[in-house]
Amino acid sequence: MALTGLDIFKQLPKTNCKDCGSPTCLAFAMAMANGKASLDMCPHATEAAKETLGAATAPPVKTVKVGVGEQEVVLGDETVLFRHDKTFYHPTALAIQISDKLSGAELDAKIAKVNDLVMDRVGQRIAIDMIAITNCSGDAATFKAAVEAVAAKANFALLLVADVAGLEAAVPAVAAKKPLIHAATAENWEKVVALAKANNCPVVVKGNGLDDTAALVEKVAKEYKEIVIDFGNTAPAKTLGDMVNARRLAIKKKFRPFGYPMLACALAADPKEEVVEAVTYVAKYASIVCLKADEKQHLLPLMAWRMNIYTDPQKPMAVEAKVYEIGDVGPDCPVYVCTNFALTYFAVEGEVVGSKIPGYIVAVDTDGASVLTAWAAGKFVAEPIHETIKACGIMDKVNHNNIVIPGYVAIITGKLKEISGLDVIVGPQEAVGIPAFAKARYPQLMK
Ligand code: SF4
Repeated sequence: MALTGLDIFKQLPKTNCKDCGSPTCLAFAMAMANGKASLDMCPHATEAAKETLGAATAPPVKTVKVGVGEQEVVLGDETVLFRHDKTFYHPTALAIQISDKLSGAELDAKIAKVNDLVMDRVGQRIAIDMIAITNCSGDAATFKAAVEAVAAKANFALLLVADVAGLEAAVPAVAAKKPLIHAATAENWEKVVALAKANNCPVVVKGNGLDDTAALVEKVAKEYKEIVIDFGNTAPAKTLGDMVNARRLAIKKKFRPFGYPMLACALAADPKEEVVEAVTYVAKYASIVCLKADEKQHLLPLMAWRMNIYTDPQKPMAVEAKVYEIGDVGPDCPVYVCTNFALTYFAVEGEVVGSKIPGYIVAVDTDGASVLTAWAAGKFVAEPIHETIKACGIMDKVNHNNIVIPGYVAIITGKLKEISGLDVIVGPQEAVGIPAFAKARYPQLMK
């Protein structure tokens, strides 16, 4: 049960020294009880207090790290149920499954294909995060060889899925890469957890539904706490239900057995259905989703969905507010003005590229708000646009006096002309209209 402010206060030094930033120990205790302060902010806390309050100050979902260096994947450490409450911190890791039954050449081709699953969206790199090697062969030596081959050539953290013999063969060989070990079950958990502990690797604890998994996690956690939970379901609805209930219990009730990151496997045979299943798990609340799909056209929507779920809703995605040169620009080229909201900017950029007419894009600093939102907030109106045009010096680079504004803010045309002295051209409302607009207006600039 969560501790109250008074429970916490009893453990504090009660000197009211203010070193923690709170005016009194009681205020600090209340802040801790509300999750707004942690005990490490009090430099005078005794060891006894740290021990007693450890659980109360621990995040509701433990942080677990898989992999090392650039391949490291951080899981968990989430504090809210809904992204509008605060934000989600550690995006769901996507793990692509590779069977150890593949021959040497097939394995190399598969590794190369998975390594290539890196894409760019609105200026950000999106990629898969892990490779799950599965002991489909049932042979420990084959599994070890496949794991070593993947570890040597793949750019991602590893998830090793095997029985005890397979894990005992493979884990020590790649322990330096800190793979995630799958799985400790009711039958084998002592051996698998001992292996994980000896090699300093995190381990998946796999139960059979909520109650069974909670009981197993409680046993394992007495020995080792680098845990990821797998509820062991095969039906997507059951997996979803268990993960939602577990996360609610972890966040709202601080139920420690569910205070760990969770793993789910998308099992549908059709890659499109598999991705739909994975989308569900990314939303609620898997820290790792394993899937077989390895085509970019299947994974891109999943990665875009993950990106949207894990974008901080309080910080819109923004590009740097500056002048962008699109294509082989010259003094005749059009000057488009838009906001610095990433989706707006990249939509405009894509269409300017598609128009085959080079151009300048001036991204006005609207704190990442889109055109109409920024206009309504007074951030994309005549004055700030004029100031930006003046400050960036774009009109010194061109031999004309024209700027193109989005059609949605045609209403600012008169005022902008008046204060800037520029010829303000109203462009299309949507970025998709830019190619037709540009071709009609600047046919001589077609490349
Ligand atoms: Fe109390 Fe510790 Fe804060 Fe000092 S730093 S006021 S002892 S809680």
